[in-house]
Amino acid sequence: MEKRYDFKEALKLYDMDLFELGKLAKEERVKRYGKKSFFNINRHINPTNICKDVCQFCAFSATRKNPNPYMMSHEEILNIVSEASKRGIKEVHIVSAHNKDAGLDWYMGIFRKIKDKFPHIHIKALTAAEVNFLAKEYSLSYDKVLDMMIENGVDSMPGGGAEIFDEEIRNRICKGKVSSKEWLEIHKLWHKRGRKSNATMLFGHIEKRAHRIDHMMRIRDLQDETGGFNAFIPLVYQRENNYLKVKDFPSSQEILKTIAISRLVLDNVPHIKAYWVTSTINLSLVAQEFGADDLDGTIERESINSAAGANSKNGMALEDFVYLIKNSGFIPVERDSLYNEIKVW
Ligand code: SF4
Repeated sequence: MEKRYDFKEALKLYDMDLFELGKLAKEERVKRYGKKSFFNINRHINPTNICKDVCQFCAFSATRKNPNPYMMSHEEILNIVSEASKRGIKEVHIVSAHNKDAGLDWYMGIFRKIKDKFPHIHIKALTAAEVNFLAKEYSLSYDKVLDMMIENGVDSMPGGGAEIFDEEIRNRICKGKVSSKEWLEIHKLWHKRGRKSNATMLFGHIEKRAHRIDHMMRIRDLQDETGGFNAFIPLVYQRENNYLKVKDFPSSQEILKTIAISRLVLDNVPHIKAYWVTSTINLSLVAQEFGADDLDGTIERESINSAAGANSKNGMALEDFVYLIKNSGFIPVERDSLYNEIKVW
């Protein structure tokens, strides 16, 4: 049996020398995947930024700081998918704000329309936070919302809305949004349907290292039970245009350590993603040496993190992405949304 880190041991990993820690995490990633680094050709769509919630870290929703409310029509969304489909995307990743005026049909109907027209495209959509919002807004059970997602063509769930599970920190950064318990419950119900999802963690704001480890432990516990998570995605907090007063941005060392520790602690989660949108592409390439085996994808367009300062508005060209992975000494492997290999570039 491989070593399993308990809470204290996991926290102590932060005290290790960066390169010693990186070596351990890299061994783990090499044992699993050698030099392969996974990515997919995908398109992110954020159909509305009108939100009933007021997460302190958010720069995306339409508020005083970002007074540009929008809500796309189904036709607009279908046009985006149609154009992206010509460029060969295999996945659409659809995440919206919690718009009370949109209606359940607006949220669900778009998946059916995309699936009918583009059956080959994988739909990754609705975070647990959105599922919770729809359930409460329309007095539906989580089971009902999840079943509707499947009926309408959603294939897998993204990992957003997890932020930090610690209740006290959560209360300060995103009070009123899905609770930690509810987030985990929704993913558990989704996994029970034989479906896959991802799990995120937003770090580098007001949380402490111990809160990150606690977060990973809660993911690991659920994964022991269901096995439904494909990837863990540590998201680096972006500090611009929001209400959270954070003085210190996490150092590159701290980001790399957090990625390495997640590889070691989450022994039952197959993939660790260095999400270039929030870690920058350069640091994500380095993170391949620190346990990360996945760099997400080309994305094409991204509104949530770019609103908070990330350099991701226009995604990344496929040739550049492939070149950068190769140039960093790894093998770019295009995957589908469930990590089946499509092509070694
Ligand atoms: S993070 Fe999501 S739920 Fe929170 S305010 Fe922003 S859009 Fe709304």
